[in-house]
Amino acid sequence: MNINLIRFDMNIGRNKPENIIHRENACPFCRPEGLTDIYATDKGGIILLKNKYDVLADADQLVLVETDRCGVDMPDYTTEHMRRVVRFGVAKWLEMESSGKYSAVIFFKNHGHLSGGTMRHAHMQLVGFRGAIDTSLFPDEEDFEGLTIIEKDGAILNAATRPRLGFGEFNLIAASDAADALADLMQKTVAYVCDRFKKSEDSYNIFFYHAGRKIAAKIMPRFPTSPLLIGYDLRILPSNLPEIVEDFRKNYLLNT
Ligand SMILES: [Zn+2]
Repeated sequence: MNINLIRFDMNIGRNKPENIIHRENACPFCRPEGLTDIYATDKGGIILLKNKYDVLADADQLVLVETDRCGVDMPDYTTEHMRRVVRFGVAKWLEMESSGKYSAVIFFKNHGHLSGGTMRHAHMQLVGFRGAIDTSLFPDEEDFEGLTIIEKDGAILNAATRPRLGFGEFNLIAASDAADALADLMQKTVAYVCDRFKKSEDSYNIFFYHAGRKIAAKIMPRFPTSPLLIGYDLRILPSNLPEIVEDFRKNYLLNT
């Protein structure tokens, strides 16, 4: 097996609500009293619950609501809240992995209409696959190589030199006990991505992975995907990485 093929239920997919483009549509996460199948909560409106629209076959899909406020996102959070969200999410991800129920558990965030996201209210997702998944096809340690932007408190942030999508792709690698440093740099990276890649219209993804014994994350703005990638799996390496590293350091890390 050299591909992972996941079945997607079109009947459920068709009924999925959307309120990024249609802002008049109600937001279920703003009415937590109406939510069902809640698994865990934390301060500041953090809620982990079953995804009502579980479009993927042989999988448990969970939603992690990040905040009780609609229309705000990671760059708006206090340092404390950002750390709480990341600590909570990583802990739940590792718990699902160690439950023994799944062949693979993925943890990611879609934000904005070009990211694959449908809900405006800030949230992340966890999916536990019960069926066969070949995790050796997931990115490995080499995929997190890059030009270092900063290394601090057990976490490294770099601009990817083996990017998947190419433009503005950042890697974060942190020891498993450095979740706070991971959260701090993630917050700055999301702010950078949203400010500097205007064409993405604040659309971005965060994907979490394992890199040896460390935790890694890829953060990337989203645009229409390169046809070279879709058609031929040719990856794009942009020529301006040194400028991005310089700009990031000078304008986003001054007090870090
Ligand atoms: Zn909301």
